[in-house]
Amino acid sequence: MVVLGYILAALALFLVCAYFGAPLLWWTAAFAALVAYTGNIPLIVFFAVLAVLVNVPLIRRKILSDHVLAVYRRILPDMSSTEKDAIDAGTVWWDADLFSGRPDWNKLLAVPQPRLSAEEQAFLDGPVEELCALCNDWEITHERQDLPPHVWQFVKDKGFLGMIIPKQYGGLGFSALAHSAVVMKLSTRSSTAAISVMVPNSLGPAELLLHYGTDEQKSHYLPRLAKGLEVPCFALTSPEAGSDAASIPDYGVVCKGTWQGKEVLGMRVTWDKRYITLGPIATLLGLAFRLYDPEKLLSEKEDLGITCALVPTGTPGVNIGRRHLPLNAVFQNGPNSGKDVFMPLDWIIGGPEYAGKGWMMLMGCLAAGRSISLPSSSVGGAKALTRYTGAYARVRSQFKTPIGKLEGVEEALGRIAANCYVMDATRLMTAGAVDLGEKPAVLSAIAKYHMTERARACINDAMDIAGGKGICLGPNNWVGRGYQMTPIAITVEGANILTRTLIIFGQGAIRCHPYVLREMRAAKEMQGAEAAREFDDAFTSHVGHVISNGLRAWVHGITSSRLAPTPRNAAPETMHYYRFTSRLSAAFAFLADMSMMAMGGALKRKEKISGRLGDVLSMLYLISATLKRYEDQGRNREDLPLIRWAVRDMTYHAQHAIDQILSNFPIKWMATMLRWTIFPLGMSFRPPLDARNHECAAIALEPGAARDRLTAGMYVPKGENDATGILEAAFVATLACEPIDEKLRKAVKKGKMVPRPGVDLGTIAREKDLISQEEFIQWSRKEALRKQVIKVDDFPQDFSRSEIVQNLGVKPLSAKAA
Ligand SMILES: Cc1cc2nc3c(=O)[nH]c(=O)nc-3n(C[C@H](O)[C@H](O)[C@H](O)COP(=O)(O)OP(=O)(O)OC[C@H]3O[C@@H](n4cnc5c(N)ncnc54)[C@H](O)[C@@H]3O)c2cc1C
Repeated sequence: MVVLGYILAALALFLVCAYFGAPLLWWTAAFAALVAYTGNIPLIVFFAVLAVLVNVPLIRRKILSDHVLAVYRRILPDMSSTEKDAIDAGTVWWDADLFSGRPDWNKLLAVPQPRLSAEEQAFLDGPVEELCALCNDWEITHERQDLPPHVWQFVKDKGFLGMIIPKQYGGLGFSALAHSAVVMKLSTRSSTAAISVMVPNSLGPAELLLHYGTDEQKSHYLPRLAKGLEVPCFALTSPEAGSDAASIPDYGVVCKGTWQGKEVLGMRVTWDKRYITLGPIATLLGLAFRLYDPEKLLSEKEDLGITCALVPTGTPGVNIGRRHLPLNAVFQNGPNSGKDVFMPLDWIIGGPEYAGKGWMMLMGCLAAGRSISLPSSSVGGAKALTRYTGAYARVRSQFKTPIGKLEGVEEALGRIAANCYVMDATRLMTAGAVDLGEKPAVLSAIAKYHMTERARACINDAMDIAGGKGICLGPNNWVGRGYQMTPIAITVEGANILTRTLIIFGQGAIRCHPYVLREMRAAKEMQGAEAAREFDDAFTSHVGHVISNGLRAWVHGITSSRLAPTPRNAAPETMHYYRFTSRLSAAFAFLADMSMMAMGGALKRKEKISGRLGDVLSMLYLISATLKRYEDQGRNREDLPLIRWAVRDMTYHAQHAIDQILSNFPIKWMATMLRWTIFPLGMSFRPPLDARNHECAAIALEPGAARDRLTAGMYVPKGENDATGILEAAFVATLACEPIDEKLRKAVKKGKMVPRPGVDLGTIAREKDLISQEEFIQWSRKEALRKQVIKVDDFPQDFSRSEIVQNLGVKPLSAKAA
């Protein structure tokens, strides 16, 4: 009985120490007290020996961690310098909390809500609004296949190309949040304008110059870029090197040559690039190539590595100007090439001492742009779809019912609305992190992947709702071009399959994990006693970390998350979501460690497993952003359906991903043990309820504060000059006329009037004095707008091409294989 009591006490101590992640010394002290209390001398002696073995680092190293280090060194695959640069790039932020298994919610909620300055807001209300109004998407995409010259000029004159360039160089010096808000708003009007603006502000000459340029390069180029006197592009991708961009075959050879009449040390560069955005009209080509120095004119190394240079496109030998046609998106994009083009060494960004450091520079700058460009344009798309699809679903009726009220359509519309909330929340949190000085390497990959995928889900839903109206392209179609262009966002800035399966977890596991990077550095970069000390310290903490996360995952599982941590001051109505997320975070951290242990370096190639691990981490991030947005925006209860649907959907998805990992885990007994630990009472997260989906759809179908908040920051056309303006007007008119429509319906039902072919109901009702003259006018206007909305464009046989050629002088496209 007494023995049983001691065993239970030991178990209790184990649970408490593991649950709270106590340091080794606390474990030792707690168990020492228990063992001393037993008074059993052999046990005390045994414990004392054990305590010395595990607590004295020198002994612990000799009997344990030195051996683990040796194994670790053997199995850890060597990293190429490009892989190392990618891993080292950027910073970790909230992702580290999620990876720790113990997210500190108070810390997250204390992060100030990102806000625009008055000047940034004025830019959005002024030049951005104006630019949106100047853009006619049909004219751009079909008639001109480019932005009209006056729009290009406006873009340059107002500084759109220099949003990230500091004011001292004549740029706008905007925050990441403002940059993101501009891209988002433009995307709600014209993707061509948005892409043309976002590329120079993303990874490219300006960003690279700001971080690595010499003073001379900065003072020459930055003011010119800011004012649009230079149009930049950045050329990395080659026919042979797409996703595997570090393998570019483009090369430069250091040599002497004649430059402006003098013999100088320079390089002869040969390249063949494709897909380069703004390339065909660029005046300044940012070029990545591998630099070789066979004569060792620069240093003792022959292969200097990837190098980035700025090449004026007027340089003799630069071939530029032809275009690709990426899915009818007409932003400028095309190939360029050069053969043995001689250029001085000071064209290297940062000067000759940055020769060979190009990959490190690119990786270092990638996170900021990836946090902004595609996440923001995707959110813009989702906002426009929420607003316009909601309006259309209210205006368009079938079976005598607005289609948005038919449950099947409602399901798709509710999804769009909830996705839109999550996406904007993620945009705000990620841009906010960049403004706090972070370069969030992993979070930017999560934002890029999940925002573009959710945009794809939204546009698929929107296309289904729009039906034939979405399919027949023309000036009256507000959704078809977005659908066509969706795969572009999926492919660029790290194609999505690769981003999901290789980057999110692959980089996250190393960068965000509290101990893995330390262990790797100790194993690969340190030697002797220093390596042994560092590895021992990281490894011991790592073991405690795994035990603690496993135990907490189990405790939260058997208590249905009731004990899982929550913030001090969050809205009571969302507290349980914090608990669920804390539970999932502990489960994820435990599973991540066990996966690394089970598969080691092979996990890198097990992309189906690492992709799903990445999904869990991503869901945790997206839920965090969603909950934070609810707090930051003052807990608007009208938004709750969106949060409830979205968080439930995401917890369910995270659970599904874990389930799939366990089902496919290579070591079956481990999978069973993991399942018992993570889901001791089975899988308890359920998908969102239909009732919540109904409430989400209602937000998109009703004018009001919640709909306005959901679509805040988008361009809402004024007047009825184009399809979206007419749609907005028709939406408002349809709602205002609902009482009149109801009157007409009842009158028909009660036999007070009989429909006549060719005569509309309003006219008959007016004839019979069933509605007033004012009501008739109001109803007729609504009907006129409704007819405009459901109208679909048709064209002459040549799709008006000859007329366009005559009016605008735009020639039909001719092609040659690049
Ligand atoms: C419209 C457009 C604009 C662009 N703009 C620019 C620009 O301005 N500058 C520039 O330098 N480049 C630009 N790009 C290039 C773009 O970054 C590449 O297209 C992208 O990197 C993918 O390369 P790829 O198209 O050759 O696809 P591939 O590399 O052939 O990939 C094909 C598929 O394989 C997957 N894949 C590849 N490797 C892995 C892996 N290890 N694990 C799992 N999946 C993998 C990818 O995810 C993708 O789904 C642009 C491309 C397009 C289409």
